[in-house]
Amino acid sequence: MARERLYLFDTTLRDGAQMNGVDFTLADKLVIARMLDELGIDYIEAGYPGANPTDTNFFAERRPMQSRLTAFGMTRRPGRSASNDPGLVALLDAKADAICFVAKAWDYHVRVALETTEEEMLASVRDSVRAAKAKGREVLLDCEHFFDGYKAKPAFALACAKAAYDEGARWVVLCDTNGGTLPHEVERIVGEVCAKIPGDHVGIHAHNDTEQAVANSFAAVRAGARQIQGTLNGLGERCGNANLVSIIPTLKLKPEYDDKFEISVSNEALGRLAHVSHALDELLNRAADRHAPYVGESAFATKAGIHASAIMKEPATYEHVAPERVGNKRKLLVSDQAGRSNVLAELDRIGLAIDKNDPRVLRLLDEVKEREATGYAYEAADASFDLLARRLLGQLPHYFDVEKFDVNVEQRNNAKGERITVSQAVVKLKVGDDEFISVAEGIGPVNALDLALRKDLGKYQSFITGLELTDYRVRILNGGTQAVTRVLIESTDETGDRWTTVGVSPNIIDASFQALMDSIVYKLVKSGAPA
Ligand SMILES: [Zn+2]
Repeated sequence: MARERLYLFDTTLRDGAQMNGVDFTLADKLVIARMLDELGIDYIEAGYPGANPTDTNFFAERRPMQSRLTAFGMTRRPGRSASNDPGLVALLDAKADAICFVAKAWDYHVRVALETTEEEMLASVRDSVRAAKAKGREVLLDCEHFFDGYKAKPAFALACAKAAYDEGARWVVLCDTNGGTLPHEVERIVGEVCAKIPGDHVGIHAHNDTEQAVANSFAAVRAGARQIQGTLNGLGERCGNANLVSIIPTLKLKPEYDDKFEISVSNEALGRLAHVSHALDELLNRAADRHAPYVGESAFATKAGIHASAIMKEPATYEHVAPERVGNKRKLLVSDQAGRSNVLAELDRIGLAIDKNDPRVLRLLDEVKEREATGYAYEAADASFDLLARRLLGQLPHYFDVEKFDVNVEQRNNAKGERITVSQAVVKLKVGDDEFISVAEGIGPVNALDLALRKDLGKYQSFITGLELTDYRVRILNGGTQAVTRVLIESTDETGDRWTTVGVSPNIIDASFQALMDSIVYKLVKSGAPA
């Protein structure tokens, strides 16, 4: 049986950009748009031309893509004609394939926020759709507050959607703008709308205020809607928008949806999904959510030993889908609860072949348990585990020695008489017979130490140029008689891989130093630096 086409509409660059702390430059927007295009998204809503210079510039020229580039904006203002509304004119001139208008579908908002009449709102929708069609654009209408509006006055909410559809809009999109609608309500209301407007012209735009934006999107599809709007990583105002990174794999990997619907994302593109998700976090300079469904580092991580031995025999026992399908990987946590099978599986994953009866397996397990008792956390620090295992198996090259380091924090007045704190680090290290002394200033002592350590590694310098620290976490642990500090450092490099290292000590600088060293050594191993 032929599958029905289901369309994906991404609004990371428009609604997603409403999120606190998100501020895309034009260059960022172009990078993300390219990523979305390669992923195979049908529509990319890239911004609101006329609202700010970045969005105006984005749409100032044609940007050829497979995806349909969509410009967002208001319908004509009440009491004006379409040609006499500068905002609308700018939107119509935008170099976009499609235009997505927004109109209020809640009578209360029309009265209170727009201070106009329902009739005038409907006329504004009709005029705007007609003007955009005349310009040769594909037209969408976001019916803002549709669900609240429908509950308050169904006839007006429907009339709003119907006005756009009758005028020739390709899609009317039902928006749960405040994000408070529940899945069973969405399913009922979308079902009622689809009795009046064919479902292959109806879209859903859900916000995540009750943590159900993804569920609401699927509820709408079950009721007949055939376009899903959302954002990468669920970016968006308040609690975010529906997360396309969760929606896409569910559509492709769950027979419930895959048997019925075809989407424009290929299996091959699906295999890059985890990378796309992490690349966006990278661009936003924030740590990836370890527990994100499908793509998080922990999404396929198993802890207890008994589960690990079952997973090695038959992955389907504890995995709802195969991690490789979305570009993720299986991870068996090595922790004090772990048995031999976890250690073996982890050694297998990092490519260290060893016989399962080799006595070194148990020695490694003992070592992990001993160190975890003092505060190390290897389940979070995969790269430090990797190095520990290599050291024990005699497979870790000796690259360099740090002969000594010195970190100095000074508070004083600067030339302007302002109070400032300056950190400086001096590192003396030995690579073969060569000695290197590096000095660096940093925004804090750890930053200074990191910069000094990485400043000059002699013949190894070229192997670590792409190394970057992306996250630094500190915990004070109260074990035994004295408190110790655990530092976890997350790093990345030019290939987009990320890894975590750990250090533990009563002294925070010392703990940081261990984690920094592990990160550098791991990068050297990974880059194949010769001993
Ligand atoms: Zn929204």
